Amino acid sequence: MYHRIAEEAEDPWDLCVSPDHFAEQMEVIARRDARIDLDELAGKGGFDRAGNRLAVTFDDGYIDNITRALPVLEQFEIPATFFVVSGALGRNREFWWDGLERALLGSAPLPTTLSIDLAGRVLEFELADDDARLPARQGASISRQKLFLLLWEEIVRLPPDRQDDVVDRLLAWAGKPVAAASTRVAAGAQDIARLASHPLIRIGSHTAHHISLPDFAADTQRSEIEAGHRMLEELVGHRINRFCYPYGRYDDSARDIVRGLKVDFACTSRESVVTARSDHLALPRLQVKNINGESFVAWLRGNYHLIAGRAPVH
Ligand SMILES: [Zn+2]
Repeated sequence: MYHRIAEEAEDPWDLCVSPDHFAEQMEVIARRDARIDLDELAGKGGFDRAGNRLAVTFDDGYIDNITRALPVLEQFEIPATFFVVSGALGRNREFWWDGLERALLGSAPLPTTLSIDLAGRVLEFELADDDARLPARQGASISRQKLFLLLWEEIVRLPPDRQDDVVDRLLAWAGKPVAAASTRVAAGAQDIARLASHPLIRIGSHTAHHISLPDFAADTQRSEIEAGHRMLEELVGHRINRFCYPYGRYDDSARDIVRGLKVDFACTSRESVVTARSDHLALPRLQVKNINGESFVAWLRGNYHLIAGRAPVH
């Protein structure tokens, strides 16, 4: 599971892999002939007990998946699935979590107090110096890292339009421009439409607005899952057979709705390997960190016993 191929000063969830490290990782997969599409991995007979098969996925549809990842995938002829947030295509603003990160993290000074209205609930904070050792009586102060995590957990549960509104106010509070760098946004709709006929790339749906499904009622889950899927099918002009739960979060109701899409499989972020017994509507995945090719091999072997049984092909 990848998200972005990029280098960012702040990456609190380890979502970025640098272009150089990504190329080294893809070279590992190519040299071991481990490349496989999700269709085969999750299909009958695709599971390999020796762990010699690796399927590559990208979540969210960031523009760097096309500008940075695709050329490397083409170079090593590695198939990949791009799970796309259909409502984000062509937007010139960041996903809310990237805006939140830009507002709060980094070294630029922030105002010392924050009062923020989250859908009618006002939260107030006093910011502490990040490395100050606070006496117990000043427990009301909060570091910017803790504030980031606390607000992330609050904002993730809000409806999408509220998320954008809260992040805009936080950016204004932090003195940051609301507009994002053009490298931090989702790809355009036409980019994804063109990709749909690429021999290596499969498009999967990832809801309309990337909501945290278990935090919403079944009717909202249904409209987000089904609308996101249909929008993408119309865009690419063919049936889409794969889905991915935003934030990896799902419940029985969301899984039932996804089953109704008649997709062949749906991915979560549960950290494990796919086996012959895996639930095709809740496949686990491994999030790849920003590590070089050598560390990539050690990580796959040491933690998951993957690519263990085959010497590199020269
Ligand atoms: Zn996502």
